Amino acid sequence: MSDQTGTHGLDTSGSMPRRQTRAVRVGDVYIGGSNPVVVQSMINEDTLDVDGCVKAIRELHEAGCEIVRLTVPSMAHAHAVGFIKQRLQETYRDVPLVADVHHNGMAIALEVAKHVDKVRINPGLYVFEKPDPTRTEYTPRDFQVAAAKLKETLRPLILSLKEQDKALRIGVNHGSLSERMLFTHGDTPEGMVESALECVRVCRELDFHNLVISMKASKVSVMMAAYRLLARRLDAEHMDYPLHLGVTEAGDGEYGRIKSSIGIGGLLAEGLGDTIRVSLTEHPLKEIPVCYSILQALGLRRTMVEYVACPSCGRTLFNIEEVLHVVRDATKHMPGLSIAVMGCIVNGPGEMADADYGYVGKSAGKISLYRGREEIRTVPESRGVAELIALMKEDGVWVDPPAPPGAAAGAPSDGNGSAAPIAAGGGGAEKRQTAGAT
Ligand code: SF4
Repeated sequence: MSDQTGTHGLDTSGSMPRRQTRAVRVGDVYIGGSNPVVVQSMINEDTLDVDGCVKAIRELHEAGCEIVRLTVPSMAHAHAVGFIKQRLQETYRDVPLVADVHHNGMAIALEVAKHVDKVRINPGLYVFEKPDPTRTEYTPRDFQVAAAKLKETLRPLILSLKEQDKALRIGVNHGSLSERMLFTHGDTPEGMVESALECVRVCRELDFHNLVISMKASKVSVMMAAYRLLARRLDAEHMDYPLHLGVTEAGDGEYGRIKSSIGIGGLLAEGLGDTIRVSLTEHPLKEIPVCYSILQALGLRRTMVEYVACPSCGRTLFNIEEVLHVVRDATKHMPGLSIAVMGCIVNGPGEMADADYGYVGKSAGKISLYRGREEIRTVPESRGVAELIALMKEDGVWVDPPAPPGAAAGAPSDGNGSAAPIAAGGGGAEKRQTAGAT
């Protein structure tokens, strides 16, 4: 039969089916399954600075970061994590923590596994041997010997995590593949995937499945190719481990955010990814609003008001930029709502998407207010925002804004005037949804 729609099998429904994964518990948060995509970040304090770390972790958590990672380069740092966890439990709450262990970190990993909810290892560094500049080949036998060493080294950590019912992230980085992977597969997404699968198989042999896997690279194209290949390989072997998405070393500012949004958002739009971290060369608190914006834009989490606004043109009947700011200031405390601000009635009403409310230029000095696609009333522009609020009150939708400025100290702005995605204390409807999910 001919394809009269011209879609040639493309899914044009606009839906975004997610790859089916198992739920992996990290403290009181679950990654994967039917749970919302989890937001995480990493503090940059010295882990030996217990007070500093407790403060930084608490600030991140209050800003909406659901899992917090910290680096553990030595045994002293591993011990310090125990004090950090204890202090958090005593003074705040039991924030899910992840410990990052690196070069030859087996003993450190075993110690820190007692104190955290998840351990992250980098397969390229966990059993680390300095690259030999004189080496010209890696024979199958060399490869097997090194693989056996990795297996023996991983085994105690996996058994410990299994016994404690804790999680492991197999976190591959493009820039730190082992020498044998580079010899065998090259500096490629295939090498990254093989590096992860080798560790996955060790875990499976020990019947340990609390696994999350990541394939980070600073090049967006490499990172996306690696995750896609990994998902395909996992699915082919009926392995449903969740994926942690990130573009590593994304940099800062607008470009860092764009790189992260393309890499992370692109994969999420394909249905891949269960937890995300945006890595910016900025204060970690700045990462959280970016995560939430990516998730909100894809409709994966509703933590902010969704504003639909036209770019304006010669038909625009008011200063739309200014009005959008005023509307946002008045309504940004009502996450879940969708509000459109459109310049004219020619195209505005049709292009408001499925906004709950619309504020549309009607004629000079007049605007129309919409409930969904229904025009409700026309009012003078000077009363536009007040009348919009009045309409929401009539509908029983309006809620008064929270405490005045100062009460939500520590909550970051996304630089666009949007409120922090989750209020201080980790409250809010969205948050409760996460905590209650299994
Ligand atoms: S909605 Fe109207 S004012 Fe806005 S860009 Fe479209 S035509 Fe121009």
